[in-house]
Amino acid sequence: WSTTATPIDKLNDLSKISYPLCMRTLHEALCTNSHLRNSGRMQYGLFLKGIGVTLEDALRFWRDAFSKKADGVAFEKKYAYSVKHYFGKEGKQTNYTPYGCQKIISSSVGPGEYHGCPFRHMDRDSLCQKLTSCGVFASNMTEILDLAKDGQYHLACAKYFEVMHNKPASKPLLHPNAYFVESRAILTE
Ligand code: SF4
Repeated sequence: WSTTATPIDKLNDLSKISYPLCMRTLHEALCTNSHLRNSGRMQYGLFLKGIGVTLEDALRFWRDAFSKKADGVAFEKKYAYSVKHYFGKEGKQTNYTPYGCQKIISSSVGPGEYHGCPFRHMDRDSLCQKLTSCGVFASNMTEILDLAKDGQYHLACAKYFEVMHNKPASKPLLHPNAYFVESRAILTE
C-alpha cells in the first residue's frame, strides 16, 4: 500500500470517511477514553504507521491522546518506548508491519478492549449501535448484521465500504490498510 505521509491533524476526519470499522472503533475509543490497552495500541499504531504517520507524529499523536490520563513524564515512561519499538527504533529493532484482517479477526478481545474486528467481536446490538453512529441506515443494516452473524466478516466489511463510499471496492479488501488506500483512491479521484 501507499506510504504517502498522512498528517495527524487529519486523522479525525479520515477516521470517519476512510477507515475500516476496526480502526474507526479504536480511534473513537481512544478519543472517548484517552486510553487504549496494549493490543489496541499495537493494532491501531501499526495501521497508522502503514498509512504514513511518521514516528515523530505518532509520538505526538499518542501523547496528546493520552494526555488526560498520563502527563508527559508518565507517557515517556510507560508508552513512548512501545511506539518507538514498533517503528523498529528500540529493542530488537524489528520493523513491524500492520496487521492484516486474518490476524485481527483471530485475535482475542477481552472486556474494556477495542481491538479486533467489530464484525467478528462485537455482539449484534453493539455492532448495530456502532453502525448507526457511523450513519449506516436501516436499509443496509440487516444485511451487514446477518453477514457478520454468518461469519462472513470480509463481506460485511465490503458492504460497509460500499455504503460509506456509495460504490463497492474494486477488489476484495483483506487488509485494513488496503481498505484505506482504496478509499483514498475513490475519494480523491
Ligand atoms: Fe477491519 Fe478487516 Fe474486520 Fe474490515 S474485515 S473491520 S478491515 S479487520
